[in-house]
Amino acid sequence: MLDAKLTTKSSLEHQTTVKLSEHATIGGKEIIIIGGPCTVESAQQMEEVATRLGLAPIQALRGGVYKPRTSPYSFQGLGVEGLKILADVSQRHHLPIVTEVMSIAQIAPVVTYADMLQIGSRNMQNFELLKAVGQAGKPVLLKRGLSATIEEFVMAAEYILSHGNPDVVLCERGIRSFDNYTRNVLDLGAVVALKQLTHLPIIVDPSHAVGKRELVAPLAKAAIACGADGLIIECHPEPEKSVSDARQALSLEDMIELVYSLRSVAAAVGRSLAEVRPHFSVVPKVVAKSA
Ligand code: PEP
Ligand code: MN
Repeated sequence: MLDAKLTTKSSLEHQTTVKLSEHATIGGKEIIIIGGPCTVESAQQMEEVATRLGLAPIQALRGGVYKPRTSPYSFQGLGVEGLKILADVSQRHHLPIVTEVMSIAQIAPVVTYADMLQIGSRNMQNFELLKAVGQAGKPVLLKRGLSATIEEFVMAAEYILSHGNPDVVLCERGIRSFDNYTRNVLDLGAVVALKQLTHLPIIVDPSHAVGKRELVAPLAKAAIACGADGLIIECHPEPEKSVSDARQALSLEDMIELVYSLRSVAAAVGRSLAEVRPHFSVVPKVVAKSA
């Protein structure tokens, strides 16, 4: 391993926790669940997601507004309009937001509206972006590159820490291999290795790892069983209609069922699901006064 000065675990007990909000901490005894669609499509979509997931042991919402699409002709995301939708839903449902930044220019708006900045797989070695999120003052979710080695992954995290940001969470989301039956290959060995090598929390994204909704739940359970600190999972009110990654999106019902099914798995490895939060009164949207 290269010179990993800041990410290296110094003892068995050395474990960083990253706080997203009063009710959402990653890396403690409780596992964290982040759920939501691949892409923010509309206010109604996010409202439905937040309303349903907020009543289950799910602590944070995801949704992309700057989307790294393979084709330049595919929908690229709602941008700042999407960030405003996320911020509104977050405030009324008391759920922190995780969303991707693809460029240095997108950091300022994302910091204004979201609680955690996601660095997507395609940018894991965008070193200038890593340095910039190192100075962003908000937690970072760093996803493993499409074919990044464990060492490259750790060194990418090292970039962010060495530029001043200690709040980094790693995310294993599958790596490229020869078999295209599943979208990627979920590398649970890396989760175990990273737990031993670094003090940073690590969560697993089974959705992008397998790319097929029927394979998501068993891998989510396996991830918790092998020591992951949590999961980020794509789900949608109408999965087949998702504008991106429809094939891997769970329905909201299946998402909630999956989360409850993790209780016994978590308990078997000395972890627990968070309590369902007290029912917050959801403040209705402020309607602008007509002049
Ligand atoms: C995503 O989270 O929607 C995403 C694009 O993930 P990844 O960077 O892991 O492909
Ligand atoms: Mn996606």
